[in-house]
Amino acid sequence: MTSGVAAAKGRATAVAVPASETLPWLVSAVVVGLVLYYLIGIDQGATSLFGDSSVIHELVHDARHFLGFPCH
Ligand SMILES: [Zn+2]
Repeated sequence: MTSGVAAAKGRATAVAVPASETLPWLVSAVVVGLVLYYLIGIDQGATSLFGDSSVIHELVHDARHFLGFPCH
């Protein structure tokens, strides 16, 4: 009934979510974040996952400069 009263007054209410339900989302977010971090900030030259191709580097080149990663 408390949440009904709070909703009726337009207040936000906290919802308890078990850690076991949030862990997969947290792990997925960290993995996606690390992949993006690598592709934008690190993938270049000898450390590139895609060989000598600079396609990824050229694709994210402006973002790399904008975010302050060393480039050239
Ligand atoms: Zn550059």
